[in-house]
Amino acid sequence: MSIRTVRKIVGGAVQYDGAGVKLVRVVGHSDVDDFDPFLLLDAFDSTDPADYVKGFPWHPHRGIETVTYLIHGDIEHGDSLGNQGSILDGSCQWMTAGRGIIHQEMPQAVDRILGAQLWINLPAKDKMTEPAYRDITNDMIPEVSDSTATVRVISGRYREKVGPVQGDYVKTLYLDVQVNPNSEWRLPVDPEATVFCYLVAGSGMFDETSESIPSHRAALLADGDEVMVNTAKDGVRFLLIAGRPLKEPIAWGGPIVMNTRAELHQAFKELDEGTFIK
Ligand code: MN
Repeated sequence: MSIRTVRKIVGGAVQYDGAGVKLVRVVGHSDVDDFDPFLLLDAFDSTDPADYVKGFPWHPHRGIETVTYLIHGDIEHGDSLGNQGSILDGSCQWMTAGRGIIHQEMPQAVDRILGAQLWINLPAKDKMTEPAYRDITNDMIPEVSDSTATVRVISGRYREKVGPVQGDYVKTLYLDVQVNPNSEWRLPVDPEATVFCYLVAGSGMFDETSESIPSHRAALLADGDEVMVNTAKDGVRFLLIAGRPLKEPIAWGGPIVMNTRAELHQAFKELDEGTFIK
């Protein structure tokens, strides 16, 4: 087994998006080559509703999947297909935009919102697939606990527990990992996958040599077939996300991510003409 080292640390920058939502853009445009097949990770962590209640009013998506996981919070959503609901504490919404969806995502005022939205790119052959929502409720997410860690399996598999989804288009491992203080946690991973960890709270060392990484940062890991995390007195909670790179060209225009400029222009033309939703 070779342990993956920390290749790069990203994130920590506060940005505003939607109608004025304060968030931490952990992974974005400039990281796209390194994080393939993942395009974006926005993290939410606030005790002040003014930071987020303006929300993300009606906007389109095409060519991607958005995965919203909330440790704490309440995000109401609705879309052009008539879907409507709420993402609540410990639950996840796995949305395949495919050929096109217009939706809104409106965080409601709570004591603390804590979570993240991940964008997974769709393979070229699946960009125009049927749009779909999967509401993964808290009780659908299995949890594995031992003396070292508690792990929730949002997607993929951990030990004997299989998550509620596997990733229909990009096979994705998505774990919510809490490593206890003064502990070492290890996980064998696909050597061909891009693997990164976003630190929600606490701090930890994500290889044998690295310094302790603080919260609100993500560690992109180098090649290898095992992840190793060590904690000091604080312990750490992080989201581990892994998937094999697509290695396809990317044409990215805001909420729409295609393979060519022509496909992007086509999408915006359809939005102008009102023919975006098929
Ligand atoms: Mn959206």
